[in-house]
Amino acid sequence: MRVLITGAAGFLGSHLCDRLISEGHEVIGMDNFITGNPENLAHLAGHPRFTFIRHDVANFIFVPGKVDAVMHFASPASPNPDSPYGYTNLPIQTMKAGALGTHNTLGVARAHQARFLLASTSEIYGDPLEHPQKETYWGHCDPIGIRSVYDEAKRFAEALTMAYHGAHGIDTRIVRIFNTYGPRMRLDDGRVVPNFIQQALRKEPLTVYGDGMQTRSFCFVDDLVEGIYRLLLSDEHYPVNIGNPTETTIRQFAETINHITNNPAGIQIKMDLRLGDDPQKRQPDITRAKSILHWEPKTSLEEGINRTIPYFKEKLGLL
Ligand code: NAD
Ligand code: UDP
Repeated sequence: MRVLITGAAGFLGSHLCDRLISEGHEVIGMDNFITGNPENLAHLAGHPRFTFIRHDVANFIFVPGKVDAVMHFASPASPNPDSPYGYTNLPIQTMKAGALGTHNTLGVARAHQARFLLASTSEIYGDPLEHPQKETYWGHCDPIGIRSVYDEAKRFAEALTMAYHGAHGIDTRIVRIFNTYGPRMRLDDGRVVPNFIQQALRKEPLTVYGDGMQTRSFCFVDDLVEGIYRLLLSDEHYPVNIGNPTETTIRQFAETINHITNNPAGIQIKMDLRLGDDPQKRQPDITRAKSILHWEPKTSLEEGINRTIPYFKEKLGLL
């Protein structure tokens, strides 16, 4: 297939480019570098099956030649207001990537009669009242809350994707991605994994926001990419959760990172840094992914963190 991947210079997009190329496909990467990094794609420069277009997906997209699949991953993704890369500091760009970007990428899929895959998120469940979250759960979101620029853009993107499927017969897929980590995460986007790993490697205390009793379920990037690739090849049109169901409190997670890195500095509870509308629980129900895609994650948290640390060491000059 000839596949357009938006957000290609980001964390997940760059891993998807690698996977599709390794499967023999041709990839057209697209990105405007608003939160991504060209270094994530540097190793693909000159590859005969990789081309790159620098472009903002909020504007009309023209791709020369035939396209067989479109994977729309372009969007800021960090909720942390302390980082310039957090989506609350890029509110209009985030809404445009999710709304106009989804419209434009669906337009490409329609023009080429290509299959389409939308990167949605567990954030569409908001601060969930159902636990763990199944795809049938409608969510608990504040349309004008702090996180709304992201949640509502993604909810709109899902609705528009289903509308193109229904009205134009586009062969669409929707993946609801739960917290994923691994090499190539931006060091300074304020998400918990880069923050904790950097602090641990510098032997500093880990900053736990709020009381640390909020939970997340962390998936290693290779497992996620496997699930997304299977979904791309499937013919499932309804949303599918992809994530690791092993749930941990953020406090436990900090202790695990300190244990793996032998960091004696402990944790620091930062009640003042508790993020607004921070979901208190998050855990995917992956029954659908198991039955439809025959997929489940294989990498334990300890193994995944150990495979992530060398990237951060290299970036911090600690190797
Ligand atoms: P990331 O910030 O590393 O990557 C996003 C990429 O999109 C960046 O390279 C950025 O420059 C690009 N981008 C943003 N707006 C753009 C625009 N208007 N035009 C062109 N490019 C644009 O984040 P990520 O973690 O790799 O997330 C990728 C996708 O997966 C996002 O859609 C995000 O919502 C979704 N997602 C990620 C996670 C996760 O845990 N990593 C969880 C749920 C959903
Ligand atoms: N968090 C934290 N310390 C940090 C960064 C984040 O305790 O230095 C918390 C954050 O409040 C949230 C969780 O870790 O409860 C996950 O945050 P992240 O930004 O990774 O993504 P989210 O899952 O909220 O989208």
